[in-house]
Amino acid sequence: MADLILALDQGTTSTRAVVFDVDGWRARATAQIPLEQHFPHPGSVEHDADEIWRAALQVCREAMHEVGGPDHIAAIGLTNQRETTLLWDRATGAPLHRAIVWQDRRTAPVTDALKAAGHEPVVQAETGLVLDPYFSASKIAWLLDHVDGARARAEAGELCAGTIDAWLMFKLTGGARFVTDVTNASRTSLFGLSDLTWRDDLLDLFNVPRSVLPEVLPSADLFGETVPDLFGRAIPITGCAGDQQAALVGHGGLGPGAIKVTYGTGAFLVAHTGDRPVASTNRLLSTVAYRVDGQTAYALEGSIFSAGSTIQWLRDVMGAVGHSRESETVAQSLLDNGGVYLVPAFTGLGAPIWEAEARGAIFGLTRDAGPAHIVRAGLEAMAYQTHDLLEALKADGAPAPRRLRVDGGVTANGWLMQFLADITACEVERPAHQEMTALGAARLAALGCGLIETLEQPPSGQPAVWSPAMADAERTRLLAGWDAAVAGCLAQARAGRDGANH
Ligand code: ADP
Repeated sequence: MADLILALDQGTTSTRAVVFDVDGWRARATAQIPLEQHFPHPGSVEHDADEIWRAALQVCREAMHEVGGPDHIAAIGLTNQRETTLLWDRATGAPLHRAIVWQDRRTAPVTDALKAAGHEPVVQAETGLVLDPYFSASKIAWLLDHVDGARARAEAGELCAGTIDAWLMFKLTGGARFVTDVTNASRTSLFGLSDLTWRDDLLDLFNVPRSVLPEVLPSADLFGETVPDLFGRAIPITGCAGDQQAALVGHGGLGPGAIKVTYGTGAFLVAHTGDRPVASTNRLLSTVAYRVDGQTAYALEGSIFSAGSTIQWLRDVMGAVGHSRESETVAQSLLDNGGVYLVPAFTGLGAPIWEAEARGAIFGLTRDAGPAHIVRAGLEAMAYQTHDLLEALKADGAPAPRRLRVDGGVTANGWLMQFLADITACEVERPAHQEMTALGAARLAALGCGLIETLEQPPSGQPAVWSPAMADAERTRLLAGWDAAVAGCLAQARAGRDGANH
C-alpha cells in the first residue's frame, strides 16, 4: 500500500532522499551522496548537472529499497538549492554547460551595470529581490551568451533554462514536463511577485527569451509522473519548494509572524508575512513562501553569511576548539563575554547591512582575554546578527515574531540557543527531528497527492524550547557593545575603500 512520501533534497553539497510516513512524519529511510564542487575561476562555482541527476536517481532508489520498494511510495516531493541555473537541450535532455551555482559571482559586472543604470528599484519592486549575481537571470543570460550557438537555439525553442528543480523534474518525467514551482521562480529576478508570472520587462532587461523558461506551478500540484523504467512504476511528483521555503513549511511556519532560522554553514532566516508581498526598505528579500490551495503565502528573508563557518574557522584555523561542539563548554566556562566581540565579516556582511568590503574583526581585547573569549564571541555573533535581522523585519512592518523555529547543525549548541532567546527576547524552538527541509517538501507532496488535507499537522516528538531569561539592561548593554563593534568594522571597510581611492 502506497502511504509513504519520498522527499528528494538536492542541496549545494549533497543530494539526499528521505522517506517519511504521514502519520507521525518520522523519517523511515535516508540516503545521501555528496556533490563535487567545481571552481573553474576565482569567484566561479559550478556543479555537474548529470552528476546531480545520477545521484538523485541513486538516493531515491536506495531510500525506496530501504522501505520495501517503490510500491510503498505514494508521491515524491522535491526541494533544492535555489538560484543555481543550467541550460539543457529540450530534445535530448543533455546539459550544455555545467550548472552555475548560486554563490557564483561571474555575472557581477552585469548586475553592477544594471544597478548603475538605475534599474534596481524596478527590479526590487517587481521581484522583491536586490540586483545581485546570486539570482538566476544573469546566469541564464551568461549561459546563452557563452555557450556556442545557444542564443540562436534558444530563440528557436530548442533549449530549456531552469533551476535544479526544473532540471530534476524534466529528467524524472523523461522530458515530458518542463515545470518549476513559484518559490523557485521567485528567485530568478524574472518573476513578478504579485502577479506570479514571468515579466516581459524583466526578460528584456536581462536579455532572456521567454521560450527557455519553464511553466510555473503552485508548490503542491501534479508536476508530473516519473517514467516507469526509473523506479519500476510511475510515481507522481506532487510537491516542490526551494530549500529555505521548504524548511519553513517543515517547521509548520504557516501563519504571519512565523519565523524559521536554519543555522548551518551560513544562517537563513525566513519570516512568513501573510498573503501579500512586503516591500523591504531594509534590504531584506521579499519572496514567495509557498502557494497551496489557490493561496499564496509570502515571506521576507535575510541571510547571515558566516554562522557555523565561524566555528569551523575557530576550530580549523585558530585551533581554539578541537570539535565544533566543544564551543558550548568553552563558552559556558566564562562568566561573561569580557567585552570581547567578533564580527564574522569574513566574506562581507549580508542583510541588513550589505557591505561586501567589510572583513572580520575582533574588538575589546584585554590581557585577560583568551581563546575562550573569542570562541564565545563567535557564538554570540550569531545571536546578535539574528537580532539585527529581526529589527530589520520589524522596521519593514512584518508581524511581530512569536517564536523562532530553528534547525541546522549549530542548534545542537544549547548554550547558544539560550543566548539566542535572551538576545532576541523570543522563545527559541528546536524540533525533535532535524529534517525540516525534506519534511517541508514531503508535506507539500502529501498535500498535492491528497494524502493529507492541510499542511497544519504538528510533527511528532517534543521540541526543545528556550525562553528569554536575561534582564533588559544586560541585553541592551550587550547589544550596544555589538553595535559598536559593527560600526568599527564598517569604519575599517570605509577606510580601506578611501585608501584605495587615493
Ligand atoms: P550545512 O547544512 O550548511 O552543511 P549543518 O547544518 O550540517 O551545515 O551544520 C554544520 C555547521 O554547524 C558547521 O559549520 C559546524 O561548525 C557547526 N556546528 C556543529 N555543531 C556545533 C555546535 N555544537 N556548536 C556550534 N556550531 C556547531
